[in-house]
Amino acid sequence: MTSFTARRYDSGEPVRIALQNGRITDVEPIWTREPLEDWPWVAPAFFDLQINGYGGVWFADEKLTVEQVLEVLAGYRTHGVGRLFPTLITSSRKALEHGFRTVRAACEKEAWADRMVAGCHLEGPYISDQDGPRGAHPVQHVRPCDWSEFEALNAASGGRIRLVTVAAEAVGAAEFIRRASDAGILVALGHQAADAAQIRAAVDAGARLSTHLGNGAAGMLKRHPNFLWDQLADDRLIPSVISDGHHLPDAVLKTFVAAKSPERVVITCDASGLAGMPPGVYPTAFGPFEVVDDGRIVVAGQRTLLAGSALTTEVCVGHMVKATGVTLGQACDMAGRIPLRLCGLDAPRLIAGAAADLVLFGFEAGAGKLTIDKLMTA
Ligand SMILES: [Zn+2]
Repeated sequence: MTSFTARRYDSGEPVRIALQNGRITDVEPIWTREPLEDWPWVAPAFFDLQINGYGGVWFADEKLTVEQVLEVLAGYRTHGVGRLFPTLITSSRKALEHGFRTVRAACEKEAWADRMVAGCHLEGPYISDQDGPRGAHPVQHVRPCDWSEFEALNAASGGRIRLVTVAAEAVGAAEFIRRASDAGILVALGHQAADAAQIRAAVDAGARLSTHLGNGAAGMLKRHPNFLWDQLADDRLIPSVISDGHHLPDAVLKTFVAAKSPERVVITCDASGLAGMPPGVYPTAFGPFEVVDDGRIVVAGQRTLLAGSALTTEVCVGHMVKATGVTLGQACDMAGRIPLRLCGLDAPRLIAGAAADLVLFGFEAGAGKLTIDKLMTA
């Protein structure tokens, strides 16, 4: 049995946590004279439902290898991420099948990888073909909803696809969403230019998440109606937000959180395959992308079309606190318990009997900066 002391992420209370055989066996409040400022915080390990790759590796690369999948996964452990959804964006069927097959092979090779891959996220290819809503997804691979293709991709993944992002206005969307929801797969709306009726029909059919709300959107929107209001106002939809400080202005982030409540917002970093790379222009399967020295990743040759984040989940958790005034506990749950529950997965708490998937970290509240000390997984 091992034990350690830390401050609970949700209450700030100092506790001693005992672990045995991958489980929490005790969480005991302790009294101390020590100043708590120097104590690490402890929270359930982070979960991110949208990770595209890392260090120059994309899950959607048609040459992806098992070793690369394992490298990307191991990289996220240093960022406090205990579980994640490898995310494959709009690509050819061949590339998508290869990507899912390779993720599956990595999970079948290593038990730790199988546990870390809580599912897979297919973002596209059934999205808008318009510039703006489409974001950095390659237009030549955008296509109408195709349930039989989706089933083939899910089979390639070993049944791991737990989340699919589609545009509400994509051809065949309502029927596709109904089938996916019936199969227990979470459907998100994103990369769309849908109107109110299309969004309502998609939510009626079962869509429950808005993928990176406020991004993957037209640069110019009519003041109202527009798809932001429609998604904010529908209480059945929970938004994911990229709270990295670049994708959304703080005022937008704060407004989204206020509209939905801190209990109904999901943080994702949407990390690009170029996350972790130094500034420069890189060829990718989706065209040339540029890592800018301020940390943004853009479609090369311009500065407004972002192409995923260079920053990782823990950065987004820290920035969420600074930008919106939610508590550290609420922000951690946005990158843990809230999306896990939404995806129908086990969401461990800091109680005896729970899986010992824990992250220890330091937090500078004024700067919104979270620094990972250690990740423990059961
Ligand atoms: Zn996207």
